[in-house]
Amino acid sequence: MVEITIRKRPQTEAVITQRKFFKKTARGKVVKVLRERYLRDDVACGIEGCRECSTEISRLLPLSGSLEHDLFPNGHYILPDTNVFLAQMDLIESSLFNPPMILLQTVLEEVRHRSLPLYNRLKALTKSEDKQIWVFYNEYRSETAIVREENETPNDRNDRGIRTAAAWYNTHISLTHTPVRGQKQMPHPTVVLITEDAANRQKAEKSGIVSVSVRRYVETMKDANVLLDLLSAEGSHNIEPTKAAAGRQALYPDYLPTPTLIAGVKAGELHQGHFNPNQYNYLEGSVPVPAFDKPILLVGRENMNRAVQGDIVVIEVFPEKDWKAPADEVVDQEAMQKNDDAEDSGEEGDENDEEVFSKESRVLSGSSNQKPPSERQPTGRIVGIIKRNWRAYVCHIDSTSLTSTLTTSLSTQTVFATPVSRLLPRIRLRTRQAPTLLNQKILVTIDRWDSTSRYPEGHFVRALGQVESKEAEQESLLLEFEVPYRPFGKAILDCLPPEGEQWVVPPKGEFDLQNIWRDRDDLRDVIVCSIDPPGCQDIDDALHAKLLPNGNIEAGVHIADVSHFVLPDNPMDSEAAARGTTVYLVDNRIDMLPSLLGTNLCSLRPFVERLAFSSIWELTADAEIVSVRFTKSVIKSKAAFTYEEAQIRKDDPNLHDELTNSIRLLNSLAIKLKAKRMAAGALNLASPEVKIHLDSAESSDPIDVEQKELRETNSLVEEFMLLANISVARKIEESFPQTAVLRRHLPPPKTNFEKLQDILRKTKGFSLDVSSSGALAASLDECVDAREPAFNTLVRIMATRCMLSAEYFSSGSVAKDTFGHYGLASEIYTHFTSPIRRYADVLVHRQLSAAIGSTPLHATLHSKSHVERVLDVVNRRHRMAQMAGRASVEFYVGLALKARGEQARARGEPDVREDAYVIRTFRNGVGVFVSKLGIEGLVTFKRETQFDAENYTITVPGAKEEVKISVFDKVVVRIEVEKDKNTQRGKVKMTLVEPVDSSAF
Ligand SMILES: [Zn+2]
Repeated sequence: MVEITIRKRPQTEAVITQRKFFKKTARGKVVKVLRERYLRDDVACGIEGCRECSTEISRLLPLSGSLEHDLFPNGHYILPDTNVFLAQMDLIESSLFNPPMILLQTVLEEVRHRSLPLYNRLKALTKSEDKQIWVFYNEYRSETAIVREENETPNDRNDRGIRTAAAWYNTHISLTHTPVRGQKQMPHPTVVLITEDAANRQKAEKSGIVSVSVRRYVETMKDANVLLDLLSAEGSHNIEPTKAAAGRQALYPDYLPTPTLIAGVKAGELHQGHFNPNQYNYLEGSVPVPAFDKPILLVGRENMNRAVQGDIVVIEVFPEKDWKAPADEVVDQEAMQKNDDAEDSGEEGDENDEEVFSKESRVLSGSSNQKPPSERQPTGRIVGIIKRNWRAYVCHIDSTSLTSTLTTSLSTQTVFATPVSRLLPRIRLRTRQAPTLLNQKILVTIDRWDSTSRYPEGHFVRALGQVESKEAEQESLLLEFEVPYRPFGKAILDCLPPEGEQWVVPPKGEFDLQNIWRDRDDLRDVIVCSIDPPGCQDIDDALHAKLLPNGNIEAGVHIADVSHFVLPDNPMDSEAAARGTTVYLVDNRIDMLPSLLGTNLCSLRPFVERLAFSSIWELTADAEIVSVRFTKSVIKSKAAFTYEEAQIRKDDPNLHDELTNSIRLLNSLAIKLKAKRMAAGALNLASPEVKIHLDSAESSDPIDVEQKELRETNSLVEEFMLLANISVARKIEESFPQTAVLRRHLPPPKTNFEKLQDILRKTKGFSLDVSSSGALAASLDECVDAREPAFNTLVRIMATRCMLSAEYFSSGSVAKDTFGHYGLASEIYTHFTSPIRRYADVLVHRQLSAAIGSTPLHATLHSKSHVERVLDVVNRRHRMAQMAGRASVEFYVGLALKARGEQARARGEPDVREDAYVIRTFRNGVGVFVSKLGIEGLVTFKRETQFDAENYTITVPGAKEEVKISVFDKVVVRIEVEKDKNTQRGKVKMTLVEPVDSSAF
């Protein structure tokens, strides 16, 4: 930014520089704010070599403008208005769109008020080396600053400001290009106002400003074919809605006006919440709201009224007599809408449309309820949308929706893009590149969803690469789960110690210039070791234990002292806060912190001195805590074990060295700690975890999938991490009762378990007691089937899904009796042990450090609202990271299955078959869980089956007689990976082999 010198103004000018507005304070008081602007004559135009303005600024617009546009042979700069940035950011960001651009302060501020994410994208562009964007502070330059006139709307005022600035630029440029005496006036570049507002264009032309629409501007550009696709359908009045959207008949009810929605929610007549589509049935969705135990059910498109996953919606609940139970039916969007025509659907009397419509209504009426009233849920319809959750979606082009597949054809086609996520509707978009986009993963954004259009409309953003190529799959996964994966920028890397890889803990004494040893315990001689999964590079924790003379045991957990390197509020800290967590994918890791810290300076590697934050207990032999203390320290780990190595060492009767004894001590304490936790009612939950073997780092082709093995040493580490987290939670809550960063796991609503309880009772005769976590733990232990060892694990997996997820919170923000961690049966909990890969832990380190008087607490950590804001992001990133990790495993399991299928076929063997367990029954299929692969699948039948919803069974025709299948039955499935013909996406397909072969039906 330009350095600004403020010059005193004579009083007369002050009048035009005052802005008056009213502001509501946090306490609800209204205050009058008078803001004075100091006008100046030295705000630079940004044009290279301008004779009028200072030339000390480094990045400038070219003197002759851009000569590459046919409409402006004498050169031009563009000056887009606010709506262009709001609606067309994908275009502006494109590397093919590079005209020299003037960005007015008025526009920048308006973008910031309208959308923070777009503002951040725009700010990033102004700093980008690839763009020529000059931010012109028009509100500070005397000739271009304007004041709102009486009866002028803020919008009109801004439009006038933009025109004034454009006109000023043109005059200013002609001054810069004044002819040398005796020579002819040279042609000079024009400033072109880009706006979609036809009225504004007219006014501009009247005052001699060249003005065009975005479409008109882009059409004549060199890369128009690609760039036109990037145009958003919204905001561009020149783009007619597709034929479908212009259809006469409204397919969806109109939304209520926002004030009505807000008033309705306030009065309790309407309900607000996040929209969750049903993954098995695209005609159903639900919205959890505080007023009801069960989420509100939405049945049919009309009632879901154009909501997209994650939108914040407002619902009207129907009278209780109209409540329904969710349909037990798999309804696949793709199969249902196969022949729908992208260009024509939505029009009245359209045959395809009628067909889809009648198919859908058949499904909806077929599912009408013979169910017991107890299964009914509050049911309603969406009457408005408070906030859209639209983002860029990874999609495939549906090949059947193309009218021409000739790659030479550059005509615009309207096609369907099918999102990778099953939870989203397909998106209609126009593109000239359709044929070349087939078989690619592409990024698409939704622009609008009119009530006359069955599907949302959007535009193509960019191609990610060939379907099933590793690069495209990996990038789409990161995009789909919104994982920030750009490399760390210079400002962030500048926060690292300048010594880089050479950084070492300074020797104690006079060379310790940074006072690193002040307040630190010297624990370099303590026998500390780390125990991690094989190949772990970011070692955040290490442990030790030794016998004390009094017979008690000293145990220590030493955590990487990340907060020594990551200081509050600097660029590295902000980036880590925005990332929230490191994301682990099968073949990749997206770090939260630069790798210099994560894998080196903070990693508690063996045989090197490292800074740590230690929690040291004195415990009795029965693992009762006598005392605990926390201290910053310097450690020097004596070994980095894998779980397996540590286990072998512990079990080797010939070893009696200090390190081995230390592991044995830790292990014996861990066993007791675990027993105590279990006795207190902690849950032993299960989630399907599998391990992917990659055959080499380079090819990263999976060769096998196996279940993760858990050893005693896994439990050893886990118990001590839990102990550290609980002890630290107590300490920081005591010191900072308002802002301590804690983690809680709310008890699940009892209704979450109703279905599982019913299934267990009816199919196996077990009852699940959910009155407390202890009772649940005990009754889960009872669920044992002697003939089927996997049954217990299966029940645990299903029970885990009935739980809520754990979350971070600020201690002052919730009632103290809701602090508890249900799953761990602990009344207080936090995360302290993984600051390299979790941001919450970094905050906890800062609070603990302040609690022991080591470093003062940064002001932001005293602010409840600040902590809440940061934790909101961290909670969200955490969920997304888990989903991304699972999706990555699924992708590799798919590859492994594909490879196994090919090998089997090559050997002439039958396809891949695996044991599986039925976990759900549907009217038209079963949901199964393949424990060996850790995946779930769906077996669907085309033929109707006899479905007994009451007893969770279906009856299907067998070879001789009918066969009954119920939940928890063990079956054998054939697993194939087949390519979807329309989208080329690989899909896991399962069919039953035993007890019946379902391929026949
Ligand atoms: Zn100038």
